[in-house]
Amino acid sequence: MIVPSLSQQDVELLRADTPGVGQLIHFNNAGTGLALQTSLHAVKQHLDLEAKIGGYEAAASAKAELDGFYTALAALIGSKPHEIAYVENATRAWDMAFYAIDFREGDRIVTGRAEYVSNYVAFLQMKRRKGIKIDIVEDDADGQIDLKQLQSAITPRTRLIALTHIPTFSGLINPAEDVGEIARKAGVLYLLDACQSAGQIPLSVSEIGCQMLSGTGRKYLRGPRGTGFLYVSDQVLDQLDPPFVDLQSAEWIDEKTYRLVPGARRFETWERYVAGQIGLGVATTYAIGFGMERIGNRICALGAQLRSELKGITGSNLHDKGARKGGIVTFTLEGEPAEQTKSRLSESSINVSVSTASSARIDLPERGLDSVVRASLHAYNTEDEIELFVKALRRIGEKSPRK
Ligand SMILES: *Cc1c(COP(=O)(O)O)cnc(C)c1O
Repeated sequence: MIVPSLSQQDVELLRADTPGVGQLIHFNNAGTGLALQTSLHAVKQHLDLEAKIGGYEAAASAKAELDGFYTALAALIGSKPHEIAYVENATRAWDMAFYAIDFREGDRIVTGRAEYVSNYVAFLQMKRRKGIKIDIVEDDADGQIDLKQLQSAITPRTRLIALTHIPTFSGLINPAEDVGEIARKAGVLYLLDACQSAGQIPLSVSEIGCQMLSGTGRKYLRGPRGTGFLYVSDQVLDQLDPPFVDLQSAEWIDEKTYRLVPGARRFETWERYVAGQIGLGVATTYAIGFGMERIGNRICALGAQLRSELKGITGSNLHDKGARKGGIVTFTLEGEPAEQTKSRLSESSINVSVSTASSARIDLPERGLDSVVRASLHAYNTEDEIELFVKALRRIGEKSPRK
């Protein structure tokens, strides 16, 4: 089977559109992707317009771009535009869906070990407030969510399956589609945290079968910080009550009544980072233009290349799990704390991040890890950058004089 990937020419185009690439090696795309020139330009242009003609007036003149945000995000995940909400970040987007569920005492949430820290603390808050139960499904032999266990964890009281598609602290890609199949058969709500997968791999809500999905602008989509989105399927709108309402999400009818607006916009607020919405729309359209399948295949191939090179370094330990792996590569070097590896790489103008147990309480400690180095690759990264990265790491590993 031929795996469609980006051509050399595509990669050169991607790099030409990424102002940061000339200055450093950015392997921290799971933190923030390096800004895309056209998205950055759109943001700046709108801010300038606001300064020049006024914020309301600028927004009115940008109606097409603001509408374009909804069509772009819908195209990215295969939904309808009115099933998309613009939210200030992925955390609040996820919250707007989660806290919209009317949990009762004794209701159960099923989740996996990859679950994002903020989601899990929200489960704990809901447990304290309403007396819900949290069922954690173990990993299977490959390190992804165990589908058999998931199946048997579902009870008549299960209200929600909450899954993190790609964790922030590992190369794992969870089998979101298989989970969706189980959710569909059981008739249970399914909320997918697609923060690291949006822009990294292709997403299709109809294939995944989730009714709610959250994503961020700042990571693999390479949009502005302080932007995010939420997908809510038409099919579950009447089961969800937005935790907050305002003049955007609801219409004030009279002294006694308000009415929620149609579609996912009932999860939005009126006041927003307008330039950010435009910028995220531009960045998303750009990614779709290259094709998410091709982008995803390249990112996964670069991740595989880095893992295989790391295996060749004595004293390095790889920590990625999963039958299917993406562009996030986690590792440690023997005898060197992750934080030190990060700061030494930084001296060679290489950006990586560190994932700590405090953000992964039900995963990293289970594996005897308190922190790991996280190198997260994007399609604009290159094979040559991986070589330079590994060279820099070797120097660190061998403790020879740096540079
Ligand atoms: C980064 C991240 C989030 C939070 O995204 P924000 O836009 O910063 O709120 C949520 N889930 C996962 C898996 C993440 O990696």
